[in-house]
Amino acid sequence: MRIDVVTIFPGYLAPLREALLGRAIEAGLVELGVHDLRDWTHDVHQAVDDSPYGGGPGMVMRPQVWGEALDAVLGEEPARLVVPTPAGRPFTQATAQAWAAEERLVFACGRYEGIDQRVVDAYADRGPVDEVSIGDYVLVGGEVAVLVMVEAVVRLLPGVLGNPVSAQEDSFSDGLLEGPAYTRPVSWRGLDVPDVLRSGNHAAIARWRRDRALERTAARRPDLLDALPPDALDRADRAF
Ligand code: SAM
Repeated sequence: MRIDVVTIFPGYLAPLREALLGRAIEAGLVELGVHDLRDWTHDVHQAVDDSPYGGGPGMVMRPQVWGEALDAVLGEEPARLVVPTPAGRPFTQATAQAWAAEERLVFACGRYEGIDQRVVDAYADRGPVDEVSIGDYVLVGGEVAVLVMVEAVVRLLPGVLGNPVSAQEDSFSDGLLEGPAYTRPVSWRGLDVPDVLRSGNHAAIARWRRDRALERTAARRPDLLDALPPDALDRADRAF
């Protein structure tokens, strides 16, 4: 997969080269390009923003500079353009799974009051464009949202996680939150690991894990239970 990020703060994306993602880049599983939007400005101040039409506070990012930058970065090869914005559709695990099958993702990081809407509108004629939000809160810029999304996508690429089964068993994969996990020691501060996990009875362990996942999802995210397809729960689940 090829990932490009256009930003006015390239340094913000440095963590993409750390740890698991850094190893994925070194292994050639991911190619990463981080581009400074100001490289496509032509004035001495390298301005990327201007005051909003219609008045109001803040500044809006200019379409011309974004147009030149995206023309250059997108080039002729097919790519999905992603524009983070709190006003976007929610980014979810399903989005991460869908994007993990893409050849190229290009992220456009907004700042200030965001990017002139005509940028999204213009590129929507050329290929897929997604305006996405990572949650119902407002960040200062799109860079942190890109770190979140790229990490969620890249860990799903074949060969990135040491054990690919761990992604299949994560929260959201079966529509539920994952239940609690334990490791050694058996007793810690008067709290014990549940006996069933040390029983060696794989069926009983699977049932216990499923029950805890259902219990946790019902308590914390009942909306996820409501969204399950009708055949997602078996008889034992319903008995629970
Ligand atoms: N005026 C915009 C609004 O209310 O929808 C907020 C702009 S925000 C201060 C500046 C930039 O931060 C956005 O263009 C976007 O790139 C990023 N951003 C902020 N919150 C975000 C979120 N929840 N998800 C994704 N990107 C976000």
